[in-house]
Amino acid sequence: MAETTRKTVILGGGLTGISAAIHLRRPWVLFEREAKLGGLAVSEERDGFHFDLTGHWLHLRDPAIKQLVAEVLPGEMASVQRRARIFSHGVTTLFPFQANLFGLPPEVIKECLLGVIEAKLRSAGTPPRNFEEYCLRHFGAGISRHFMIPYNEKLWGVHPRTITADWCSRFVPLPNLEQVVAGAVGADAGSMGYNVSFLYPNRGGIETLTRALGARIRGGEVHLRSSVESIDLHRREVVVGGQKVPYQAVVATMALPELLARISDLPDDIAGHASRLRCTTLRYLNVATRSPAAADWHWLYVPEKRLPFYRVGIYSNAVASMAPAGAASLYVELADRGPVSAATLSDVAQGLAEIGAIGSPGDIRFADAREIKYAYVVFDEHYQAATTAIFRFLESHAIYPRGRYGAWTYNAMEDCLLAGREVAATIENAPGSKTP
Ligand SMILES: Cc1cc2nc3c(=O)[nH]c(=O)nc-3n(C[C@H](O)[C@H](O)[C@H](O)COP(=O)(O)OP(=O)(O)OC[C@H]3O[C@@H](n4cnc5c(N)ncnc54)[C@H](O)[C@@H]3O)c2cc1C
Repeated sequence: MAETTRKTVILGGGLTGISAAIHLRRPWVLFEREAKLGGLAVSEERDGFHFDLTGHWLHLRDPAIKQLVAEVLPGEMASVQRRARIFSHGVTTLFPFQANLFGLPPEVIKECLLGVIEAKLRSAGTPPRNFEEYCLRHFGAGISRHFMIPYNEKLWGVHPRTITADWCSRFVPLPNLEQVVAGAVGADAGSMGYNVSFLYPNRGGIETLTRALGARIRGGEVHLRSSVESIDLHRREVVVGGQKVPYQAVVATMALPELLARISDLPDDIAGHASRLRCTTLRYLNVATRSPAAADWHWLYVPEKRLPFYRVGIYSNAVASMAPAGAASLYVELADRGPVSAATLSDVAQGLAEIGAIGSPGDIRFADAREIKYAYVVFDEHYQAATTAIFRFLESHAIYPRGRYGAWTYNAMEDCLLAGREVAATIENAPGSKTP
């Protein structure tokens, strides 16, 4: 097969695949399993209520990606100042917990402050071995006990002592002592975190952006409802719908275990690493109400174990068109990974009233359960060795794993748009790559 007849094959049409398609100048073909592009960045509508696959708020840092978004949706993205809150010990406080203790019961504030001071006084010592140690080191015992440990256990589905802190530098704000004290006495500790403001389409949910980006794709072939069946490394072919498609390079954005399972001639050591990749599934609810939301926040973190969810968001508080007038659309991210029972739904309804999201359980018009099979990659003790070996092996066969589940990581939509741009440049600059 002449090299020039081989194309770049993009596996998966989420934001990473879409971005790769936008940025590649060489011939490419994209295969997407579903009937539409978007992956996790899609939306659904029921009776005038709009939902994403839980909150998908867009945080942009890169100037070129900002420009791309502005070009594809000129004037159609709302810029929203974040209203994030925490519900703990029966009160609603500002985000992040560690810099906003004001309002919590005095004995909790005292325990948290003493813990921070003790942690700051302790010498740094050896690097933390896991995320629990990281929390104790940076926030002390009180903040760890009241927020960091219980919240993260609900989010990740595993105890923080079983995961490393590799993922958290960008996502977990680290206030200094002055900011912690200011936030504990009610003085302004300043806005913190990577997501102080965000962009969101004026209409239709995040899929409006995905569609606009999809419309920007030119020059290649997009095949929907096309699931990759297998990959032959030696022939450099992917098989889709029984058809063999020769490739020069592959951009692999489908979940890494799914990709590896489709490679027939995987060496034993790589298969061993593949068997140690772990990810948690997420179950969540699309909730519609008959009355306006009872709270004004966009999303709220819920660390306490007794409540069945760890985060709740109100789409229509960010952009009113997400729900009919006089109603609200919400997402509820459940701590339990099992099937959603009638008892869970009843607990959720009570819980939503308790946290002040809705006036009473009777305000709920419908609650639809959904699942994200691959939601949170687990950064356990095998993660580094497994991903390093797997990525080196794949790239030696011109397969470039990218995106949240291709690169098996924790990231956001902008990272995926950047990864698509980066991988297009990497492939075009690879040795032996020719522009036809
Ligand atoms: C609960 C949750 C909340 C989030 N909230 C935010 C947020 O607020 N802000 C933010 O910026 N980011 C958020 N993210 C992250 C964001 O969703 C991801 O970073 C991004 O959408 C991932 O894009 P991707 O293209 O890498 O992967 P995906 O969207 O997973 O795309 C992979 C594609 O591969 C396809 N595929 C799978 N198997 C095959 C096959 N065999 N053949 C062909 N195609 C296949 C899939 O159908 C899918 O379309 C959130 C993620 C989660 C899980």
